[in-house]
Amino acid sequence: MANYIKRPNGTEDVTPAQIHKWKTVETVVRQTAESFGFSEIRVPTFEATELFQRSVGETTDVVQKEMYSVIAKETQFTLRPEGTAGTIRAMLQNGMLAEALPQKVFYILSCFRHERPQAGRLREFHQFGVELAGSASPYADAEVILLAKTILDTVGLKNIRLNINSIGCPACRAKYQEALKAYFSQYREQLCDTCKERLERNPLRLLDCKSPEDQAIAKDAPIILDYLCEECSTHFETLQQALREMNVEFTINPKIVRGLDYYSKTVFEFITTDIGAQGTVCGGGRYDGLIEQLGGQSVPALGFGMGLERLILTMEQQGCAFMEPGKCDVYLAPMDDQARPAALRLANALREMGVRAEFDLLGRTFKAQMKYANKINTKYLIVLGSDELEHGAGKLKNMQTGEQREIRLDTNEHFTADYTEISLSEMLGGSAE
Ligand code: ATP
Ligand code: MG
Repeated sequence: MANYIKRPNGTEDVTPAQIHKWKTVETVVRQTAESFGFSEIRVPTFEATELFQRSVGETTDVVQKEMYSVIAKETQFTLRPEGTAGTIRAMLQNGMLAEALPQKVFYILSCFRHERPQAGRLREFHQFGVELAGSASPYADAEVILLAKTILDTVGLKNIRLNINSIGCPACRAKYQEALKAYFSQYREQLCDTCKERLERNPLRLLDCKSPEDQAIAKDAPIILDYLCEECSTHFETLQQALREMNVEFTINPKIVRGLDYYSKTVFEFITTDIGAQGTVCGGGRYDGLIEQLGGQSVPALGFGMGLERLILTMEQQGCAFMEPGKCDVYLAPMDDQARPAALRLANALREMGVRAEFDLLGRTFKAQMKYANKINTKYLIVLGSDELEHGAGKLKNMQTGEQREIRLDTNEHFTADYTEISLSEMLGGSAE
């Protein structure tokens, strides 16, 4: 084993060979979010620990087991495990909720959770997320779901299922929590230790337990939809109608409660079966109580988080198209030291015109340069030797077709590289004399 320090478990590098995949999804999510009228927001990587305790919730796995917290100078901070809490905190702190509502923001950020690393489950992962604050309308729910769906469609994903549920408001949930408590109490001794505690503090969380034994017990638990109050029920109905009108297919899954405490009414997940057990590519919902809970006015809001590693994994699995990796437009091969200043000038003039240009930086032999030019897959090649400099003429070689074109280096001959027209004499200045 080579003796260098390795990256921590559960983290990933994105090398230049992979970056085009990230650029593809980042471009799609940005463009789609902007087309829905969402603006980008950037928030700190760490926040006061209390922010997550108060929002994500003390009884959740995230807060109980997964947070990376440090005490620095006597203050406790946590690397953000998700994006909503920090975003809402930023909206409050920057007075955004006192401006025209709704406020609609999106973000692309890294999240940190101390989980058991496996495919699609990392300790540092990336989320694209949106938050829409200021609307209680079920059409806002439909809009946010449609935004996620548009992204998944645009990147070309197939077989993605949308599951929706309503977990009600505090009023209907109180009755449901009682029913859950009564039901699970019968099986108290069989529950895992965490769930024994959940039974007392937050029975809804029992439905979210990953232990197979507890899941088996949860199978016959009472269903939230039977406990919804009039308002929550109408909200859920209207959302379904709106989705049908938009031809968005969905399944009602009363078992979805989501892993964070702040949700109310609508919750939803987009799930794929193509990447194994970690199939939730996107999860979100409404959190009408959160802003008030964090010290703001009562402002209804909702959002989602989309796991970008899982999205890319699914795209790879399904053979979806990515943007072309960037490659060199023109490679300049100086044959000797005399040609090097001309290569430098020509490369720079090309760059100023938006052409990606490179030239030999290692003083390689001509043969080695040709090998390198092939390896980096350049579109065009120009060889610069004493002949070219003396006569002010050279050859532009299209590396794909092998076609060569005479070009004058000292006249106004135009050089066409697919998308731009460049005068070589302008670029070379006086160098070709
Ligand atoms: P899961 O049930 O898979 O643990 P979650 O309910 O914890 O997901 P959220 O907190 O809602 O997930 O986060 C939103 C999205 O972020 C998830 O749907 C998933 O795509 C992604 N995600 C969550 N945790 C991880 C992780 N550890 N590694 C990679 N992606 C993750
Ligand atoms: Mg989780």
